[in-house]
This record gives sequence, structure tokens and C-alpha cells, in this order.
Amino acid sequence: MGGLRVLLVITGGIAAYKSLELIRRLRERGARVRCILTRAGARFVTPLAVSALSEEKVYSDLFSLTDEAEMGHIRLTREADLVVVAPATADILAKMAHGFADDLATATLLASDKPAMVAPAMNVRMWEHAATRANLETLVARGVTVIPPGEGPMACGEYGEGRMAEPEEILAAIQRAAGAKGLGRLSGRRALVTSGPTHEPIDPLRYLANRSSGKQGHAIAAAISRLGAETTLVAGPTRLADPPGASVVHVQTAREMLDACMAALPVDVAVCVAAVADWRPADAKSRKLKKNGAPLFLKLAENPDILNSLAQAGNTRPGLLVGFAAETGDAVAQGRKKRNAKGCDWIVANDVSPEIGTFGGDTNTVHLITETGVEDWPPMAKAAVAARLAERIAEALERPL
Ligand code: C5P
Repeated sequence: MGGLRVLLVITGGIAAYKSLELIRRLRERGARVRCILTRAGARFVTPLAVSALSEEKVYSDLFSLTDEAEMGHIRLTREADLVVVAPATADILAKMAHGFADDLATATLLASDKPAMVAPAMNVRMWEHAATRANLETLVARGVTVIPPGEGPMACGEYGEGRMAEPEEILAAIQRAAGAKGLGRLSGRRALVTSGPTHEPIDPLRYLANRSSGKQGHAIAAAISRLGAETTLVAGPTRLADPPGASVVHVQTAREMLDACMAALPVDVAVCVAAVADWRPADAKSRKLKKNGAPLFLKLAENPDILNSLAQAGNTRPGLLVGFAAETGDAVAQGRKKRNAKGCDWIVANDVSPEIGTFGGDTNTVHLITETGVEDWPPMAKAAVAARLAERIAEALERPL
């Protein structure tokens, strides 16, 4: 469960004490747990206990100035992989079913597009009431997973169904949901991604560069870290924000990029997406070059090939090494050649013919060349290419090469 980001909503039921145990068990398995504690929930367990166990701040107030500024209800769900309501009272189920948003918990649940699970806990008569049944039916029809309550003596003195499922049952349900969604598939793995162009100085003001936007590389780093891998992104100069989840090393030149990549080893997978400058001015000037009417000749020296250096890193060679090949014309044939020349395992051949894809654009048409053959992927958004590549990487690491 390493890397899995769970948003746990604790509502007001006596079973809230079991949610403390659930937090502990999730944390033990490497999940990150952020909690929303409702006002009623806080009557049963204290914010202090919840934050001590989750090792995170506890969120409870929709109108808290600091919480909304730092972490709005939208961000709480955006930064989670799944949302679990445990205990889920009859009241919160009713509010979820009808789309209420009158406190932080309900507003967050309404704003969420993440998989949601509820672990109901209530008196047997409330559980059996037609209103609760109808609300549950609505939620199930919307794709919410119900972790059914058990039967037994209740805190209210009655006997019957309505006791919240035990922490280990909820844990197993979370694990199943995470597995089905592919979340955490790369947990425990280390990944390295290069992205963006490099800038090679001519003098303190000028540099040689290329048109790479870094969009594809950054999207791949985000997708890999979403699957739970501990991801280092070595990024050349781009206008992009650092992708969430990855630790980013910012570099300017090819040589700096190489050093940062070597320092990130060992990794299970490396994906070289950066458009590294093949050459750099052989002797960058420390003072600004002045024009004098005569032509200026720049002598260029070849830059190190980072992909190839990783391929030759001996016992620290990444277990799976993926390169990109931006080509015009027969991308697959050229990609195949590049796979051999660079000594990598896979090449993502990227058709940059003007009529197919543009360098710097938002979509990409790629062919994945592996040791066994070629997959032609349809034109896709760069984020979709990234997600699919991350899935293929997870699959390959599960079944060693
Ligand atoms: O040689 P070419 O630039 O076409 O190869 C592209 C692949 O090699 C990409 O994966 C790119 O990130 C990588 N590369 C590199 N270091 C270089 C040049 C390219 O890692 N100096």
C-alpha cells in the first residue's frame, strides 16, 4: 500500500474508535492517511488522537481560513487516491445520497471524483429503515463501495446488524479497491525520469536550446509516482510546475543532468524523456561575447548520452530502461535501431512529423518498441500516454524481464 493516499472521513458513531486502529494499520502498510473529522465524530475520538496516529493535520472546518487557504476541500480529494467514510452514520449516507454539502466532510465528498467506500455503523433499526436502504441503493448505483456492517450486540444495548466492519475487513476492502484501480502497483519501487530540454551556455547571457516543453516527461513522472513509486524527476528548464509526488532536481545542462541521474541510482526503472542537447559550446565564455563585424564560429563539443550512460552503469543499471525517440518518417524502424544503439530495453518512438504530432503540443502518437515487438498506440493526450506507460512499467516489473 506504499504511496496509497487515503482520505478518511470519520463521522459521529461509537465505532469511531475502530477508525483509530484503521489509521494505524494503514500507516503500518505505508499508506498516507489524511483525516476529516466531523463535529459529531470529534465527540467520540479526539483530533489529537487522529493526528497523532495519521501523523497529519486533522481537517474539520469548512470555513477555516487557514485550512481553506492551505488545503481547500477540493484539494483534499484531489490529493487522495480514494476516500473512505468510516464510520458512516445513517446521517452521512443520507447526505451523500442527496448531495448535501453543509460541512467539510459532505462538501469534500460531493467535490470528489475519487473511488469512495463507506463502512456503515448504526443501530439495527436505523440500518433496516427504508430510508437508509434507499440511500444505500442510490450510493451503490453511483459506484460507491459498501463495506457491510456485521451482526452482534450493539453499544445501544440492542442486538443485530449495524456494527461497523472490523478494521482488518476495511483494510482488505481498501486493498482490493486499490488493486483494482492499479493504485500502489509501483509501491516500494524507485524510478528516475528525465524531462525537458537542456540549456548549454554560450556565454553568461546566451545558450543553445531546443523546443522541448517537458510536458510528456513531467506527465510520466506524475503517473509513475501516482502508482506509488519513489520518483526522482531530473528536469531541464521548463515552464511547468513540479509534478506532485515526485522529488524534482532542476538542472540546466546535459552534464548536470547526467550527474543528477547518476546520483539517483539505483532505481528499478528509468525513463529518459529529456531532449538532451547533443552538443554544447566547447568553451563557454565567462564574459559576454561582443560582435565585431566578423562571423562568429562556435565550436561544439559532444554532450554525454545520458540514456546510454545509464545502460552502461554496470550493476547500477536500471532494471528497466526506457528511452524516447522523436522521429519524423519511419519512427518504428528508426526507434528499433535506436533501441540497439542506446542499449535500452524499450523505446517509445514518438512521431513528430508536423501532420501527426507537434513537439510542445498536448497530444502524442507513439509506438512502444520492446524486446518482443511493437505496440502502436492511438493518438492520445500526453497525460494518457503517461498513464498507459506507467501501467506497462508496473506490469513489466511485476513479471521480471
Ligand atoms: O539520440 P536521440 O536524442 O535521438 O535519443 C533520444 C533518447 O536518448 C531519449 O530517450 C533521450 O532522453 C536520450 N538522450 C540522452 N542523452 C543525450 C541524448 C539523448 O539521454 N545526450
